[in-house]
Amino acid sequence: MSADRVPVRAPKGTNDILPPGSFRWQELVRLAQDSFERAGYAPVETPTFEDTALFERGVGETSEVVTKQMYTFEDLGGRSLTLRPEGTAGVVRAVIEHSLDRGPLPIKLNYASWMFRQERPQKGRYRQFFQVGIEAMGTDHPTIDAEVIQVGDSFLRAAGATPTLLLNSIGHLADDCRTGYNRTLVGFLRDHEDELAPEDVKRIDTNPMRTFDSKEEKTIVVMASAPVITDHLCDACTEHFAQVKGYLDDLGVIYTLEPRLVRGLDYYTRTAFEFVWSGLGSQNAMGGGGRYDGLAEMLGGNPLPGIGFALGVDRILLALNEEHSSRGTREQEGFQGGPKVEVYFVAIGDEAAGEALRLATRLRLSGIGADLDHARRGMKGQMKDAARSGAKYAAILGDEELAAGQVTLRDLTTGEQERISITDLEARVRTG
Ligand code: AMP
Repeated sequence: MSADRVPVRAPKGTNDILPPGSFRWQELVRLAQDSFERAGYAPVETPTFEDTALFERGVGETSEVVTKQMYTFEDLGGRSLTLRPEGTAGVVRAVIEHSLDRGPLPIKLNYASWMFRQERPQKGRYRQFFQVGIEAMGTDHPTIDAEVIQVGDSFLRAAGATPTLLLNSIGHLADDCRTGYNRTLVGFLRDHEDELAPEDVKRIDTNPMRTFDSKEEKTIVVMASAPVITDHLCDACTEHFAQVKGYLDDLGVIYTLEPRLVRGLDYYTRTAFEFVWSGLGSQNAMGGGGRYDGLAEMLGGNPLPGIGFALGVDRILLALNEEHSSRGTREQEGFQGGPKVEVYFVAIGDEAAGEALRLATRLRLSGIGADLDHARRGMKGQMKDAARSGAKYAAILGDEELAAGQVTLRDLTTGEQERISITDLEARVRTG
């Protein structure tokens, strides 16, 4: 076979989202956007690619996402561009660029976007993946931390997931807070250097807190007795964290304190959280977020404290599927996500096919999902298509019906059917 006849396949680490799964996928994204918008987070869209410097400065040059995983390329004008590996840096850039920070605060935004990271693909870890997220910028009052976390938690629960919420505060960069703690941690890691995995030794000076994220067994054992940040927070960060916990308690949001939780990206300060589900195996995080009070300045803007989260849609769907198959239930409680066709027209003959197209169009324009046969299949084949479409009704148009200006409306769940006038069809379907 010549090279141009070899079938082209999707790039490694990418997925096609096909029906029927694509319905659930879309529905989950819509549920996220609705939940976020109901809490006042307006939609925002930013470019899929950005100046590479945005992520180097914003996400941080010591984070793995920047050093190893970015899709960076030069365009024809010689600019270095990068497919976004995460959503926050682009949103904060847009806020600064368009001076939204000079308007009413906080600025509350939500996004639903593809992200790109060159990772080693495995279950739940892809090179192109979809995140939904929110960002709240312009205040560091702990009520907003609690709001952001509650909005994420309630969306996941509305989707039918039962995540565990891990919560921590990682302080801020000051000698009496995280900077001082980092020195203590580096001392501890140096003292245990020969017990750590070689990969983790390399990171001691550049990003010591990431050692808590190591998947290496040897390192995990050492880190169990490492000093933790929450014992080294300054008074202001301790107080901030206490208030965040207090508000979450008020809201009935259940969390587990995890002093070893550090987030992968460099810009985080104070509140850090993650939603995990043990059934996902090694890729157990559905999403997470935290406060990023210094990010706007890193990007050249005025000080603008912020907090947000990103949740992985691919991962949430995996979790839902596994959680429900282990419970033996087929449908999720929270959202259905299925075809939107209510009436499927079964038409015998050309004249009936034309009438079916007219009637289906009329129903669609009035807001009722409708579909029809376009392949001139026989009655049996069309009835099968009707069942496959997920429609509640088959509307059958044969010679007799046509002559009488009627359709035979068959309820596909009960099998009951009745002849009704074409003019009554819409009202009949609406009343159910
Ligand atoms: P992060 O920005 O790394 O904190 O990721 C937030 C969430 O996005 C994770 O918890 C996952 O649900 C999802 N996510 C991150 N990276 C990937 C990936 N490579 N493939 C699929 N989902 C991902």
